[in-house]
Amino acid sequence: MDTDVLIVGAGPTGLMLANQLARRGLRPLIIDRHAGPSLQTRALGVQARTLEIYAQLGIAGRALQLGKRGNGANIWAEGKPMARVPLGDVGRGMTPYPYILILGQDDNERIMGERLRELGGAVQWNTELTGLKEARDHVVATLKQPDGTARDITAAWVAGCDGARSAVRELNGIGFPGAPYEHVFFVADVEATGAMVPDELNVYLWRKGFHLFFPMRGQDHWRVVGILPEALKGKEGAGFDDVVPSIRGEAGSGLEFKACSWFSTYRIHHRSASRFRAGRCFLLGDAAHIHSPVGAQGMNTGLQDAYNLAWKLTLVISGRADAKLLDTYGAERVPVAQRLLGTTDRAFMLVVNDHWLVGLLRTKVLARIAALAMDLAPVRRFAFRTVSQTGIHYRASPLSEPGGGLPGDAPQAGDRFPWLQLKMRADGPVEDLFRALDDLRFHLLLFGQSTAGSHKDFQVHSIPADPHNEEELDRARIPATSFYLLRPDGHVALCGAQLKPGAIERYLTDRLGFRS
Ligand SMILES: Cc1cc2nc3c(=O)[nH]c(=O)nc-3n(C[C@H](O)[C@H](O)[C@H](O)COP(=O)(O)OP(=O)(O)OC[C@H]3O[C@@H](n4cnc5c(N)ncnc54)[C@H](O)[C@@H]3O)c2cc1C
Repeated sequence: MDTDVLIVGAGPTGLMLANQLARRGLRPLIIDRHAGPSLQTRALGVQARTLEIYAQLGIAGRALQLGKRGNGANIWAEGKPMARVPLGDVGRGMTPYPYILILGQDDNERIMGERLRELGGAVQWNTELTGLKEARDHVVATLKQPDGTARDITAAWVAGCDGARSAVRELNGIGFPGAPYEHVFFVADVEATGAMVPDELNVYLWRKGFHLFFPMRGQDHWRVVGILPEALKGKEGAGFDDVVPSIRGEAGSGLEFKACSWFSTYRIHHRSASRFRAGRCFLLGDAAHIHSPVGAQGMNTGLQDAYNLAWKLTLVISGRADAKLLDTYGAERVPVAQRLLGTTDRAFMLVVNDHWLVGLLRTKVLARIAALAMDLAPVRRFAFRTVSQTGIHYRASPLSEPGGGLPGDAPQAGDRFPWLQLKMRADGPVEDLFRALDDLRFHLLLFGQSTAGSHKDFQVHSIPADPHNEEELDRARIPATSFYLLRPDGHVALCGAQLKPGAIERYLTDRLGFRS
């Protein structure tokens, strides 16, 4: 076998998967048909859940150093300031990163590429997947090499991280149902001055659409996104100068553009692959799902597809778990993609619909409602959980086993286990739970009970009874007597009030196909 895992595509999704496999001791082969890393910023928003994963990978510090916290969104309607929605620390107490980080996709890819090299991996550029043939226990992949010649290699598994036009998806005959939206969008990275509130998101709503100004790194640098004016649709070579009059018309005549470093027009599609796996091939990221950029979810969702698949692939390749574990990748990630398509669709239609009534709603009502609603703590928490992706759960997954005896408002099987500050030892300091638990194995957290010693498949943490711990558990609605088995990706596998002897071993054998 030439490689355990062939990763096709070195965008953010492929790089995340390569990193996660490399730090688990595997040597995937990662290829990309381009000559080198993309220099386009494309995605800009890094969500809290991604930063939590970055922290485990050792790159959160670098991302925070290079990025900007999105502190607030200023909503302008027909040129007048309408409302400011505070975003800084909006998720305080829910995650170590209670905000959205503005950091371009190119920087994210660079940081992940550097980490991959530190882990001993490297992207094979100028290498394109052109054919796939599946055998019983491997796949033969045909690669077009940098010198133009073709070579067949064998891989146990193939991860299609090859974007919206995925060759892995097409070569496996997997459908990509959905449709394009009718509007054509433009995106421009510019140096500009004007009424925009610096370092914050500025949303300009108008009767027929919107313009978004995202703050970027550097003085007066902004990413401007909007709908291409009707008159420019289909115009060959439309450039930034062509859209300036419409931006000025809406965002104010005081706007001065000094430079434009990137301009692109694009049509947005909403599509989801009919399945995320065919035999030994998987689809991840844009290869599996694409949707509108409202909510800055696309890149983040791909990164989490990779995080979900990596620990499962590692257990199967090492022979520890049965290959049926890999079925749970689709079982968990397809519903996430479908929900995302639904919500981004609705949000998007509200922003782009040019019906006069929707236009009125957008300019007169939306901003005020958004600002008022975000004043309410439960709305703020719900909105943050949704957008930050910390609220994603796998409750319906075959890997989620609800134990008895937990109240309905306690964390449940399938949930991302909450971020807590706990005394892990009776005489020890208060620790950040996410730092205390690595993501390379299962962890068993015991509250108000204990169990004998350690186990090769999971690490046991008997959390001592202590006034600080009680307060923290109470805040997270975790009963004082309970147990939680956490998967490597931090989601709850099995939980309940009282751990019965042999329950964990039975879970690992039955649900994950662990071999003893
Ligand atoms: C203009 C624009 C703005 C966007 N803004 C946002 C945003 O604000 N927020 C957000 O979250 N998302 C945004 N997105 C979406 C985001 O860019 C994507 O979700 C993200 O790039 C998906 O990453 P990926 O790794 O899955 O795919 P890609 O980034 O598309 O990477 C796929 C890689 O596969 C390689 N490849 C393809 N075919 C082959 C082959 N046959 N052999 C070898 N290599 C191959 C390609 O060269 C490419 O490098 C935006 C997208 C666009 C176009």
